[in-house]
Amino acid sequence: MKAIRGAITVENDCAEEIKLAVEELLTEIQKKNLLKNEQIVCILFSNTDDLHSFYPAKVARETGFFQIPLYSSLEPHIEGALPKCIRIMMLVEADLVPKHVYLRGAAVLRKDLTDIINIALDGPAGSGKSTVAKIIAQKLNILCLDTGATYRACALACVKAQIDVNDEKAVCSLMEKTKINVSYENGVQHTYLNGEEVSSVIRQNEISMLASTVSAHECVRSKMVKLQRETAETISCVLDGRDIGTNVLPNARFKFFMTASPEIRAKRRFDELVSKGQKVSFEELKKEIIKRDEQDKSRKIAPLKQAKDAVMIDTSDMTAEYVADFILKIIQEKI
Ligand code: C5P
Repeated sequence: MKAIRGAITVENDCAEEIKLAVEELLTEIQKKNLLKNEQIVCILFSNTDDLHSFYPAKVARETGFFQIPLYSSLEPHIEGALPKCIRIMMLVEADLVPKHVYLRGAAVLRKDLTDIINIALDGPAGSGKSTVAKIIAQKLNILCLDTGATYRACALACVKAQIDVNDEKAVCSLMEKTKINVSYENGVQHTYLNGEEVSSVIRQNEISMLASTVSAHECVRSKMVKLQRETAETISCVLDGRDIGTNVLPNARFKFFMTASPEIRAKRRFDELVSKGQKVSFEELKKEIIKRDEQDKSRKIAPLKQAKDAVMIDTSDMTAEYVADFILKIIQEKI
């Protein structure tokens, strides 16, 4: 007898959604394991305590499993558990190596039980990394570490101390006295500089180029990389940056490199800044983005580069949701 596991999440506690999700999961398990109905001995279902509208085992009855025993149970509420999740254990009489099936982010079963997974999302400015990283993190119920924010905080530290970001010696001496850290509230990253929250001010366009210049110094990178690695070691997260796949986490299980045409990237940044009430010229922004990429690509330490084993995605004609789904599919196939 073999046991095949599976899980799927739903967006809402709604009978129709639960039915469709269970049907999809049962079909996928059978398809992946080349299983015939008569090889299935019994199916055990469980679901999180936020789903009440439909009894998952009923779907199995309705879809043709009349003879076999079915069992359903409600899971106790566990802090930090993936919400609205239905799990299956299918016992089968078949000579196979079980292929477990986790759909729609359900592979992240419980933060305290599952292995730590790190997803490296690198690429130039405006390629859509941070939007996509946030969607993925939300769907997988894991953390999203915006590494650019930490370099931006270093640049802001220099501005506040009136230090030229090109002056490596002065920057390094400042870094020794500077504390940068991040914390999370409902999945949203808050960035702190010497205890003061700077999450909004570092998004100002003037900080972008300064962050690029300051991030080229070894003393800055080593400090930030240490912070990033410490986070990635302790908790599953998506890290968006420039050198995650090549330098910060060369052994990350999942690596993606996103890009888009300079025109599109500038347009995205322009829309983002305008929506935040910042006044910018599109042409200026485009020039700046191209210059910043050049600077990021040509620096000596950990330049912006696609890791050899990263999946390249040109997001020029794609929405962030589409890219996130594409990435999630690849991840789900591997875990
Ligand atoms: O991603 P964001 O635009 O916030 O990054 C600001 C700058 O920080 C980048 O232009 C880059 O120079 C630097 N950076 C880096 N390595 C990272 C993330 C950002 O050098 N992992």
